[in-house]
Amino acid sequence: MINIEPIKAFSDNYIWLVTTNEGSIVIDPGESKNTLDSLKNKQIDLSGILITHHHFDHTGGISDLSKNNTLDVYGPNNDIESITKRVINGDVINVIGLSFEIIEIPGHTLDHIAYYSFNEGNPILFCGDTLFSGGCGRIFEGTYEQMHNSLKKLKCLPKNTKIYCGHEYTESNFKFA
Ligand SMILES: [Zn+2]
Repeated sequence: MINIEPIKAFSDNYIWLVTTNEGSIVIDPGESKNTLDSLKNKQIDLSGILITHHHFDHTGGISDLSKNNTLDVYGPNNDIESITKRVINGDVINVIGLSFEIIEIPGHTLDHIAYYSFNEGNPILFCGDTLFSGGCGRIFEGTYEQMHNSLKKLKCLPKNTKIYCGHEYTESNFKFA
C-alpha cells in the first residue's frame, strides 16, 4: 500500500505526503501549519522528512515538524542545519518500507537532488523544482548546461514513472510554451 497526496502551501507549493503500511514522510515541507493540520486530521505520525534543495519554501517547516530533532531529515549538502542525514548521488535510503535512490540534478540550485523509487514497478520521483508539468525550473545557481544534463538524467527513468514536482505551474507553463 502506498498513498501519495499533496498538502498545499503558500500560493502554489506542493508538500507531498507519502504513507505506506510502515509510516509517513513529507517531501519539502516549506511550512508547518497546513502540514500539521493535515497530519492531525488524518491522525498521522510523521516518520521522516525528505528535502530536495535549500530554498525556504521547501525547508521552512522542518524545525516545527521534526519533533525536537527526533526525526530523520534527509537532504543534500547545503547550509540547512536541520538536515540530519546528508545524501549524495547514488546513495540509497530506506524509509517507510520504500527504497529511494538519490539523483543529483543541479541547475535550479547547485545542491538540488531528486528521490527516485522503483516502488515494485510503479516508479515514483520527487524532483522538487527541477521538472514541472509543462516546463522546468528556473536556473538560479547552476548553468543551462547543468540543467539540461539534469533533465536528461530524469529522462532516462522508466516511462511509467510518476513525477511529483514542487509547484503547480502547469497553466503558466503552457501559456509560456
Ligand atoms: Zn526552489
